[in-house]
Amino acid sequence: LLKADGVIRPTIFAEMSALAQATGAINLGQGFPDEDGPAEVLDAARHAITEGQNQYPPGLGMPVLREAIAEHQQRFYGLEIDPDRQVLVTAGATEALAAVILAFVDDGDEVVTLEPFYDAYGGLIALSRGEHRTVPLRLPDFLPDHDDLRAAVTDRTKLILINNPHNPTGTVLPRDTLELIVELAHEHDALIVTDEVYEHLTFGQQHIPVATLPGAWQRTITISSGGKTFNTTGWKVGWITARHRLITAIVAVKQFLTYVNAAPFQPAIAVGLGLPDGYFTGIADDLRRKRDVLSAGLSKAGFGVFESQASYFVVADAAPLGFTDGTELCRQLPELAGVVAVPISAFCHDDLGAEYSSLVRFAFCKRTDVLELAAKQLSRLG
Ligand code: PMP
Ligand code: GLN
Repeated sequence: LLKADGVIRPTIFAEMSALAQATGAINLGQGFPDEDGPAEVLDAARHAITEGQNQYPPGLGMPVLREAIAEHQQRFYGLEIDPDRQVLVTAGATEALAAVILAFVDDGDEVVTLEPFYDAYGGLIALSRGEHRTVPLRLPDFLPDHDDLRAAVTDRTKLILINNPHNPTGTVLPRDTLELIVELAHEHDALIVTDEVYEHLTFGQQHIPVATLPGAWQRTITISSGGKTFNTTGWKVGWITARHRLITAIVAVKQFLTYVNAAPFQPAIAVGLGLPDGYFTGIADDLRRKRDVLSAGLSKAGFGVFESQASYFVVADAAPLGFTDGTELCRQLPELAGVVAVPISAFCHDDLGAEYSSLVRFAFCKRTDVLELAAKQLSRLG
């Protein structure tokens, strides 16, 4: 059934990275950095291996990491989290999403997400046999309309699943929208699941974790990951923070997904979470410069560029260059310009609105010289 629905197929990210490899094109498709993260974090993983931390860690995650996660939430957001009862370590944010959705969504339960949405959301909602309702992000700011949100959330809604800051648009949700989400969750007795893997990668706009809003904590499940913050997307260390009863339900599923997660990376990510404030502002400043280089290059090449407020990604409109179908453009882009990108259609249902169809996502989490070369090659399109 899932195959018939077209849900179980190679993800767009695998498909596009394979295309980049096959053609030798610059990969601005899949979002992963091309430079290593902080030396302290890498050293800590090596050290953990040579020290013999190579056997199954505890199911909730190693205490040193759970404590570091709680301290990080306290330092940046003022949240008081009990590392022994309110934190669960997962295999990346992806396993966190899987465990949460499988724990709470039964046949026919509705899950509301923004659209465009990260592709795993669609797959996981289908695997749990839930119904996926979406709220469109409206151009040019990629913000949800409050009336659309009110219409989408009903008594059938089990989860309101938001991604903030947002992949692929780089939107940072404003406080009034988050307040409305909390209000709707109360009104319809829904849980809020918030995927905040880009929490530190914002370019001026303040990231507000929904769990910090009045009345939110009791019904909010927060997901994050070390992949983006420490340039370690291949380590797959993620985590969930929520009240104890919710964590207990999620652990019941997680134990049969992976049981526990890779031991030596856990103390290493704990070291990362304890780095001084300057590290976290530094990575955002660095990425902002990269965003500016790529955005300027895309504009010069003739794309319409939407300003990205956060994340690894910028959305560009290919219509001014005469390409109305972003999916088709992404197929041709390696040949036309030696660059790989991802169409926004990959983050939308099949009935995506016409205003999205010429949009393409480019990743700027790459070395500046790579971005400059990509921009130069893209200028051939004009
Ligand atoms: N959520 C979003 C919005 C993402 O962009 C990603 C991809 N990096 C993930 C979740 C998955 O994160 P992880 O690699 O930690 O599983
Ligand atoms: N999150 C990354 C992206 O959006 C890639 C994750 C993946 O390959 N599944 O490009």
